Amino acid sequence: MRQYMRRLSARPHHASSPYDRDNAEWILSKFKEWGLAAEIETFYVLFPTPKERAVELLEPAKFVARLEEPTIAVDPTSSQHSEQLPTYNVYSSDGDVIAPLVYVNYGVPSDYEQLDRLGISVKDAIVIARYGASWRGIKPKVAAEHGAVGCLIYSDPRDDGYFDGDTFPNGAWRPKDGVQRGSVMDMTLYSGDPLTPGVGATKDAKRLPLRDVKVLTKIPTLPLSYADAQPLLAALTGPVVPEPWRGALNQPYHVGPGPARVHLKVKFNWDVKPIYDVLVKIPGSVYPDEWIIRGNHHDAWVNGAEDPTSAQVALLEEGRALSELLKQGWRPKRTIIYSAWDGEEQGLLGSTEWVETHADELRAKAAVYINSDSNGRGYLNVSGSHTLERFINGVARDVQDPETKMSVWKRDQLARIEHGSAEERGEARTRPDLRIGALGSGSDYTAFLQHLGIASLHLGYGGEDGGGIYHSIYDDFYWYTHFSDTKFVYCRALAQTAGTAVMRFADADLLPYDFTDFADTLRTYVDSLKKLLKGAQDESRERNLEIQEQVFTATADPQRPSFPPKPEAAPPYLNFAPLENGVEGIKRAAEHYQRALAKAEANDGTRLARTSLASIDQKLLRSERKLTTAQGLPRRPWYVHEIYAPGYYTGYGVKTIPGVREAIEEKKWQEADAQVAIAGKALDDEAELIESAATDLDRAGQ
Ligand SMILES: [Zn+2]
Repeated sequence: MRQYMRRLSARPHHASSPYDRDNAEWILSKFKEWGLAAEIETFYVLFPTPKERAVELLEPAKFVARLEEPTIAVDPTSSQHSEQLPTYNVYSSDGDVIAPLVYVNYGVPSDYEQLDRLGISVKDAIVIARYGASWRGIKPKVAAEHGAVGCLIYSDPRDDGYFDGDTFPNGAWRPKDGVQRGSVMDMTLYSGDPLTPGVGATKDAKRLPLRDVKVLTKIPTLPLSYADAQPLLAALTGPVVPEPWRGALNQPYHVGPGPARVHLKVKFNWDVKPIYDVLVKIPGSVYPDEWIIRGNHHDAWVNGAEDPTSAQVALLEEGRALSELLKQGWRPKRTIIYSAWDGEEQGLLGSTEWVETHADELRAKAAVYINSDSNGRGYLNVSGSHTLERFINGVARDVQDPETKMSVWKRDQLARIEHGSAEERGEARTRPDLRIGALGSGSDYTAFLQHLGIASLHLGYGGEDGGGIYHSIYDDFYWYTHFSDTKFVYCRALAQTAGTAVMRFADADLLPYDFTDFADTLRTYVDSLKKLLKGAQDESRERNLEIQEQVFTATADPQRPSFPPKPEAAPPYLNFAPLENGVEGIKRAAEHYQRALAKAEANDGTRLARTSLASIDQKLLRSERKLTTAQGLPRRPWYVHEIYAPGYYTGYGVKTIPGVREAIEEKKWQEADAQVAIAGKALDDEAELIESAATDLDRAGQ
């Protein structure tokens, strides 16, 4: 795996670059060398690259931002400047603006509520936001909604730099000139090629004209290092920022506006370019039309040793291991597909276009998608569909942690006991399975899970080494082999984890979904919706009371202008019964299925006729699809899953039961009622399907 990484990260390999194509062909050649049937599928996607970039402070003093990451002498690939993409945010619009600067903290909606209280508007201003707290594309989206004309996003050393440790090359953390490149596409609407929403970006696909594309930013946006951001922030006056807004630069933080005036200019080549997905198919011997899909992207922002190569090498090693088993005569029952995606960094392009191209077949055949994206030293992190919770807990119990030699499951359990709240400690000790996180967006599982309703998992190790090279030229072989999984033992652990998951899924008698953990988790989601509503009601009552009591008039410091919040109608009570009944239905059906399965397993499966197993499997295969709806989510019909979605105003952070949750958050009460009904119906349908599979299993087991 060290040798694979050395080869794949030897040169910059962003989507459609010469070395990106070279890597795709090399990956293809490895799979073929191992005797696997592999091919490259090419798509044609919008991939703008910068023609012009400028950020200058015009007043009160002149400063020109460098917008470059310098060579570091000990790091051999950091000098490959001719092949490196410049520092920029892809899918920013073109723009050339001069305006006063305002600091907006992370630039999420609650930060703008704070600005309102300070009486500060960002209308016709350029905002400077720090990275963190949201998908980066949310920052220009929310800024534009508030009337800003430009957006700068910088890495504050509090979140990503010396606050955490020594900076590269002395340590793992972000150096002052390191810049986080990244996409600012509004992925809350859809992922994939901006020109071809919902359909594959094949050569002759029908493409939107650029002016009709809704996922590009409305205002020009550029990322900055903290070396470049520091003089801009130092030039701001106005109120000192609220305490949680303070970063780790050695200066007071002011909001502005002014006297800093900034010139921001970006212009792009708006090109359509080819990207190269590498795909391998191992046909199933019993259920060839049930697909187990495993993927990881191969493209990087620059050299990308950690992101994505550290996990791509595990995927390659899994491919090699499976090919060895095939040579020994092993034949998986179900079809296995391995995929190395291209164009992930711009907006999950390669995976989304493949999913959209093959949507009908995937809806009919896909049983699970298992993703990874990068890997490091430490603990196994798992997120995914809760129907896979029990399954992946089983896998984690059988993989050895390379450092402690206990199972990675045991180590994770003990870490939860050390770091968890009292409730989490209790659960870690007594609940049979460790909970897994829900998936929003941010990597290649998105189109599988959110657009088609294919049960998905996202796996990776980490937590023991820090890092500050994300999306910079310093994410390279030198950094990884000095500061991350330097012995590649966690790359091996990832290959063992994902490889075991693939094999078990491919060879199970029945698809190994479990609905009891799922029902248990759904219960917590419904409870949290109720809490959210109660919190909003209490907060609004309290605020209205304080306004009546003239609290804000009394405490406003006349020398520091602030503005009281406005009174608003208290949120009404909502009827959660359709959701509660849906969860109860799934719980009952899940218990029935569990009993039927236990009985069948006790009979050793010998009395289960293969034909009835196949038909039960077909029902199970559709179970995650039942959680999707034809109309999709409000404002964004591309997202069809009723239980998990990226937040409309957070981006990668997951919202569970998103239609209802966001309606409550945004105080849209009629919509909340309607969404409860829609999500409740999806749960009823799911319960009916599980019940029917359980009944079939009873019958087959008799
Ligand atoms: Zn990645």
